[in-house]
Amino acid sequence: MLDYKNIRNDFPILQREVNGKPLVYFDNAATSQTPQQVIDVIVDYYSNYNANIHRGVHRLSQEATDKYEEARLKVQAHFNAKFSHEIIFTSGTTHGINLIANGFSSILKKGDDIIVSALEHHSNIVPWQMLCERTGASLKVIPMNKEGELIMYDYDNLLSTNTKLIFVNHISNALGTINPIEYIIEKAHQVGAAVLIDGAQSCPHIKPDLQALDVDFYVTSAHKMCGPTGQGMLYGKEAWLKKLPPYQGGGEMIAEVTFKKTTYADLPHKFEAGTPNICGGVAFGAAIDYMNSIGFENIAKYENELLEYATQKLLEIEGLRIYGTSKHKTSVISFNLDGIHPYDVGTILDKMGIAVRTGHHCAQPIMDFYGIPGTIRASFAFYNTKDEIDTLVTGVKKAKMMLM
Ligand code: PMP
Repeated sequence: MLDYKNIRNDFPILQREVNGKPLVYFDNAATSQTPQQVIDVIVDYYSNYNANIHRGVHRLSQEATDKYEEARLKVQAHFNAKFSHEIIFTSGTTHGINLIANGFSSILKKGDDIIVSALEHHSNIVPWQMLCERTGASLKVIPMNKEGELIMYDYDNLLSTNTKLIFVNHISNALGTINPIEYIIEKAHQVGAAVLIDGAQSCPHIKPDLQALDVDFYVTSAHKMCGPTGQGMLYGKEAWLKKLPPYQGGGEMIAEVTFKKTTYADLPHKFEAGTPNICGGVAFGAAIDYMNSIGFENIAKYENELLEYATQKLLEIEGLRIYGTSKHKTSVISFNLDGIHPYDVGTILDKMGIAVRTGHHCAQPIMDFYGIPGTIRASFAFYNTKDEIDTLVTGVKKAKMMLM
C-alpha cells in the first residue's frame, strides 16, 4: 500500500499555493516534481564536490567522477542493461533520439524504410524526417484507431526486408496508451530491423527490463521521473554503439587527437563530448533510488486507481469526451468539453490552482487524427490524491458553466 500522505511531504513544491489555492499539480507528463531527497543531492554536489570529471587528479574531481560513474551503474542496474558502457548520459530523450538519427545517416540509403507510429511526440518524428531528407530513405507510419491504439495488422504489412529501423514510444504522452512494444520488437527483428523505444513517458510508471525486451535502443529523460531537467539516458546494445559514428566531436570523446587524424574514446565516452551535466547525472541516480524506494509495483497500482477514479468522475460531466480509451493505458487523461476551447478551460483551472496542460502536447498528428486543435490533459503521479481529482472535477464543472 502506497503511503501517499507521507510521500507528499517529500515534495516541498506540493506545499505551495497558486492564486491563493493549494497547488494541484496534474502536469506530470510534462515534468514530474522533485523530492527533497533529490534536491539534497543537488545541493550537496554544488556545496561539496563540484568539479570537472574524468581528467582531474585532484580530490574533488575524483569524488565527482566517482559519483557520476556510480550513477551510471544505478541506471544500468535499474534498466537491466548488460554493460554500464551501454548507458550513454544525454541531456534528455530528444538528445538521445537525435544521436541515433545522426548515426543512421551513415547507414541508410535510398530504398530503405524506417517506421514511426501515429502516436509519437514531435521529438520522435522530426529527427527522422530530417534523416530521410539527408539519406533518401522513406518514412512509413503505423496508423492508430479511435481508441488511440496502434493497429498491429498494418504494422505487420509495413515491415519488409527494406525496413531498417522502427521507433515508437513505450507510452503516448498525449493519450497515455501503452504500446505493444514486445510485439513490435519481435516482429522488427524477424526482418532484421533495429528498434528504438522512446521511454520518456514509461519510466515514471514502469521499470523496463532492457535485456528481456531485447530492444536495440531505449531513451528517456530524468525530469519525468523525479530527477532534474537537462539529463537523460540513451541505452544502446554494445554492438550498435560500436558500429555507429560519434554524434558530437569535442573533449572527452577522443582517444588521441592530431591534425592528421583523431581516434575516438571507448564507450560510453565516444558519445559524451564536452563537460556533461555532472550534477544532473548524480541527481538522476538519486531519483532512481527514490522511485525504487517507493516501488514501481506500488506506483503502478496506485496510479491505476487514480486513473480509474478520475475517468469515472470526469465522464459524469455531460459533454466531456476523453481521447485515448484503450484498456492499456497509464495515468493520463486527455479530454475536451463540447464546443469549448481547451485553452480557455486550462486558464480557468489555473485560477483555481490546478495545473493541467492544454494544446497539442507536441503530438500534432494525433490532434489531426481526431480533428481537434488540442485537448486538456491531466496526468497523475504517485503523489497525487483522489481529493485533488475531486478538486479538478469541480473545477471543470465550474469552467463549463462559465464558458457555456
Ligand atoms: N517523447 C515523449 C513521449 C515525451 O513525452 C517527451 C517529453 N514531453 C519527449 C519525447 C521529449 O523529452 P525531452 O523534452 O525531455 O527531451
